[in-house]
Amino acid sequence: HAKEKASQEIRHQFAMPDGVSPIKINEKYERFNEGHVAFYHPSSVMIPNFKGETKFWVFSMMDQKQNLINTAQHAPGVKAPSVAEARSARAWESAAWTLNEMLGYGKPNRKMHLWDNFKAAKDWPHIYNKAPDEKDPAILTNQIKYVTRLAGADLVGIARLNRNWIFKEAFTTVSDKPEDDNNFITKPINFKDIEKPTETEDEYIIPNSFANVIVSAFAMNRDMMQCLATSMAHAAAALCYSRMVAHDMWICQFIRNQGYYAIPSCNGVGQSVAFAVEAGLGQASRMGTIITPEYGPMVRLSKIFTNMPLIPDKPIDFGVTEFCETCKKCARDCPSKAISEGPQSYEARDIHNANGRYQWHNDHKKCLQYWVESGGDCGICVAVCPFTKGNIWIHDGVEWLIDKTRFLDPVMLGMDDALGYGKTRNVEEVWKGKINTYGLDTSHFKDTETTGKDRVKKS
Ligand code: SF4
Ligand code: SF4
Repeated sequence: HAKEKASQEIRHQFAMPDGVSPIKINEKYERFNEGHVAFYHPSSVMIPNFKGETKFWVFSMMDQKQNLINTAQHAPGVKAPSVAEARSARAWESAAWTLNEMLGYGKPNRKMHLWDNFKAAKDWPHIYNKAPDEKDPAILTNQIKYVTRLAGADLVGIARLNRNWIFKEAFTTVSDKPEDDNNFITKPINFKDIEKPTETEDEYIIPNSFANVIVSAFAMNRDMMQCLATSMAHAAAALCYSRMVAHDMWICQFIRNQGYYAIPSCNGVGQSVAFAVEAGLGQASRMGTIITPEYGPMVRLSKIFTNMPLIPDKPIDFGVTEFCETCKKCARDCPSKAISEGPQSYEARDIHNANGRYQWHNDHKKCLQYWVESGGDCGICVAVCPFTKGNIWIHDGVEWLIDKTRFLDPVMLGMDDALGYGKTRNVEEVWKGKINTYGLDTSHFKDTETTGKDRVKKS
C-alpha cells in the first residue's frame, strides 16, 4: 500500500499538462517501418559466430550459447563452477521464453496475438459478439486498471492512440503455421473506417474508432539482471515476455467480452516506449528504454489498442532527461559503445533509428553484434542505470524525486556505485537468494545462504 501510494503521489506531483506529448518530432518524421529494426533488416542480420562463420544472427547467438555451456561459462569470461551449472542457468533462460515462443512473439494476428475474438469465446454466447452494455469511461477505466494488475502488470497507464507510433509496416510472418516461421515479410498497417481489426493479403487494418492504448509494464527481477550479460540476466527479460503474452490474451478477451475490440501487441505493432511515455508510465532515456519511478528501466512493455472508451493518464516529467544529459553511465559501460554520449537529435544515425524523432539515437547494429558475441540479450545498460534501484527511490521518500537538483549532482552520481546500487551479482548467489512470486520485490537481498538452505530443506 505504501508503494502504491508513493507511486500515485509521484504521478500526481510530476504530471504534465493535458494534451501535451513529451515526445517531439519534426517535419521529417514518418511512421517507422518495423522491418528496419536491426533484428530484422538485411543490412544488420548476418553476423559471424564465435568461429567466424557468418549466419543469421539468432543462429550465431545460439552457437555461442552452446559454446559457453561447453566451456562452463555463464557469459564470455564469467566462469560457472561447472558445465552443469552453466547449463542450469541456460535451461532457465530458455524455459522462461517458452510462452512467448509458443504463442507468437508478438507478431500481429499470429498464434495467440489474434486481432479478433478467440474461438474459446464462442463457448460464452451470452457475452460473445454482443454490443457493449457498459459505456461509462470512468467505470471501464477502473475495471481495466484492476484486471491488468490481476493479469500480472506491475504498472498500467492509458493514452490516446497516437498514430505516429504505429509502425508503417509490421515485420511479420506469412501465416502462423510453425513451418512458415522463416517466411518473414513486412506488411503495411493502415487505419480505415471499418468495424473491427482486420488482416487482408495486403495489409493490417486498424479501425478509425480505435482511440486508446493500454500500456502495461512488467518488472524484471533486479537480482537476476545484475548478473551482467549472463544467461541469468537474459532469463529476467525472457520471463517478462512470457508474462506479457498471458496478460495480453486475458485483457484482450476481457475487452471483447465487454463488446469492444482489442489488438494485443506485446513488443509489436508500434513503438512501445513512445506509447508508455504518453500513458504516463515514465520517461524516455539515453539508452532508449523507458525509466519509471518505481522500477527504473527494469521493465518490459506491452500495449493493447482498443475502441473501448477510456480516460487517459497524463505523461510525467520527474527529471529523467536532465539526469541522462549528465549521467551517461550506460554509454560508458556499454561494451559495444552502442549508446550515444552526445546530445539528443532529430537526425537518425542510420536506417535503424526513427528519423525526425527527437531522442538519443543509438547504434542498434553494434548492440546486436554484442548480443551475438556474448550469447544473449546483454542488458548491461539497464543493470547499471542509477534508476535501476527502483523502489529504493520511493523508500527514500518522494522528496528525493522532487529535489531534481540532486539528480544533476556529479557527486550523487558517484555515490550511486558507492552505495551499492550499481552492484553486480553472480549467478550462484542468485540461485540461493530469496524469492517471491515471479521473482519480484527481492530488493532486500540478505541472508541468501540461510534462505537457500531453508528452501532446500522444506522442499
Ligand atoms: Fe540515463 Fe544514466 Fe540511466 Fe543512461 S545510465 S539511461 S544516462 S540515467
Ligand atoms: Fe550496450 Fe548491452 Fe545495452 Fe546493447 S544491451 S546497448 S550492448 S549495454
